[in-house]
Amino acid sequence: MRVAVISDIHANLHALEAVLAAIDAETVDTLWCLGDTVGYGPRPNECCATVVARAALSLAGNHDLVVLGRLDLDDFSGDAAAAASWTRTVLSDEGRSFLEGLHPQEQRDGVDLFHGSPRDPVWDYVLSEHVAWLSFRMTSAPLVLVGHSHVALALEDEDDAGVAGGLAPEGTELELGDGRWLLNPGSVGQPRDGDPRAAWLLLDLGARRASFRRVDYDVARTQAEMREEALPEALALRLARGE
Ligand code: ZN
Repeated sequence: MRVAVISDIHANLHALEAVLAAIDAETVDTLWCLGDTVGYGPRPNECCATVVARAALSLAGNHDLVVLGRLDLDDFSGDAAAAASWTRTVLSDEGRSFLEGLHPQEQRDGVDLFHGSPRDPVWDYVLSEHVAWLSFRMTSAPLVLVGHSHVALALEDEDDAGVAGGLAPEGTELELGDGRWLLNPGSVGQPRDGDPRAAWLLLDLGARRASFRRVDYDVARTQAEMREEALPEALALRLARGE
């Protein structure tokens, strides 16, 4: 089975549409989304509707949960809280009911999926080898998928020897073999690994292969929409830098 994996769309419709066009140019059997469909960006309702239509599985991220009122705005930084507060005011009934049905962790086809990590599916960031190693200890699936950090990663469990691997920039192609892997596809709508292009991951579960992809999108168009909605300028500027 070939699976397209996306995460952290953050209401960036033009990034999402570019990624979906790239996915449509491949043969994939299904699409999974690791959460944070909304937050930060200007088009939450369109992104929810698109994910509803396209993804067979979606997780809830911390930004989805704060928009629903299930997390406190005080737990978020100033700009993130401002964007979440705005999103609460514009979220459609359809968008809300979609987000209300999601959970921050799921299992599918022998894969464990978390927005954050197995330690804390909502909040924990897997950004160090230590946290990745602990995450492997708390799961048994051969493949663990996480989002949340907006950094594309590929880490392999080496038991007592720790973990191997690290950043997974565009063009990273992996033979997963018999190993246990933790993969983060990177972010569709707000990449933070220095590459502003929208990120996604193509998995072949049968062949045990993973391919990390990036795609250009119209960053200026999303920035213009953010300014129209008076979202924090720093959130618009960071899209061009991929940080
Ligand atoms: Zn996020």
